Amino acid sequence: MSNINQPVLKIENLNKTYMLGKREVNALSELNLIVNKGEFIAIMGPSGSGKTTLLNIIGCIDKPTSGTILIDDVDVGNTPEDKLYKVRRDKMGFVFQTFNLLPYLNARENVELPMEGKTLTKEQRRKRASELLALVGLSGRENHRPQRLSAGEQQRVAIARALANNPAILLADEPTGNLDSKNKQEIMKLLANLNIQQGTTIIMVSHDTDAARHTERMLLLKDGKIVKEKEGLHSAKKNNKCPHCGSTLAVTDDMCPKCKKHIFTADDFYTT
Ligand code: ADP
Ligand code: MG
Repeated sequence: MSNINQPVLKIENLNKTYMLGKREVNALSELNLIVNKGEFIAIMGPSGSGKTTLLNIIGCIDKPTSGTILIDDVDVGNTPEDKLYKVRRDKMGFVFQTFNLLPYLNARENVELPMEGKTLTKEQRRKRASELLALVGLSGRENHRPQRLSAGEQQRVAIARALANNPAILLADEPTGNLDSKNKQEIMKLLANLNIQQGTTIIMVSHDTDAARHTERMLLLKDGKIVKEKEGLHSAKKNNKCPHCGSTLAVTDDMCPKCKKHIFTADDFYTT
């Protein structure tokens, strides 16, 4: 279970206004959110609801117009750019819909890249990259370039790369958006396992209910505000209990082995 005493992210009255010609667009308005260490959450919402804007502000790629955002108690909204890149490098791991691997580097070199400029030796970087690739299930694929890997495997490399500097938060923008349903399930399981085994805090943006239901907490964004929250499958797994009949669950269960009900779905999330 998440530790309620240790928020890794604290957002208060956050606003983001873009100017579109003379028109103001309020992408985020008076948004509040607390994410505790070790949580696995999904931010959902229709196109234009502010998901990417929120993720970019959390990732210190963009700045809020007003309000506060604290990451590990650092007020990143008021941190100058020359210090912000360090927060980005040391505290954030990014996973994108389109993987964004460098095509001329092999899997291991892609994972090593964010470790450059740190104090590790070449040998240490290489070793850590191999360990991370093993962690995401890609042992033996270290020397393959992205074009020789499947889409699912490429996203695994991207996840290993995002973990390279042991980030406080793993941020993923539609990480399953370019994957078929089998790979989508596998990537969601990988993220869930990383969350349980490594305690990685994960904030994922997705409009796909089938992916988002695998998380612990689903948030619905509408017109730049969080309007709804729901528990996800992962929460039942962390508690090891079926929410319908109370019987014990294994981490891999999607359906309760006893009462045969699906543990959590998110199909009704947008409508009710
Ligand atoms: P989502 O990721 O949920 O689709 P976005 O965060 O991309 O939503 O966008 C939220 C709102 O802010 C939309 O109305 C969008 O048009 C607007 N917006 C996003 N980025 C910009 C920008 N750079 N300039 C002007 N308007 C923007
Ligand atoms: Mg978006």
